[in-house]
Amino acid sequence: METNCLFCQIAEGKVKSDKAYEDEHVLVFKDIHPKAPVHLLVIPKIHIQSVAHLGGNQGEVVVKLIYAAKDIAGKQGLLGYKLVFNVGREGGQIIDHLHLHLLGGWSKNGDNKIEV
Ligand code: AMP
Ligand code: ZN
Repeated sequence: METNCLFCQIAEGKVKSDKAYEDEHVLVFKDIHPKAPVHLLVIPKIHIQSVAHLGGNQGEVVVKLIYAAKDIAGKQGLLGYKLVFNVGREGGQIIDHLHLHLLGGWSKNGDNKIEV
């Protein structure tokens, strides 16, 4: 837990979020400024700054995020979706806690041109 990290505080329940799924390792909650009809953030409970900061033995963390996203997308009946990691300021990352954007809910092919 990084004390001044917003997503660590959300993972600890110290800051409120609109949760969609939670287990021992992963939390999924609604993005506060949705860029798609469905926009969820999938985060590990442990603090890792970004994909660029993943250790050589942390591959399992990323797999857990992707599987959580896939399961939620299935449960929500999403027809198709995007999974996005922003990495670093130049990559559009604002919150320095690893997170996977799950975006979907478009009704037809072609509605999905977005910038996250
Ligand atoms: P990124 O630009 O990849 O770092 O994405 C950070 C995302 O976190 C943005 O899409 C924000 O809208 C979202 N966000 C920021 N604060 C909160 C919050 N308190 N609860 C939910 N989502 C948030
Ligand atoms: Zn954190």
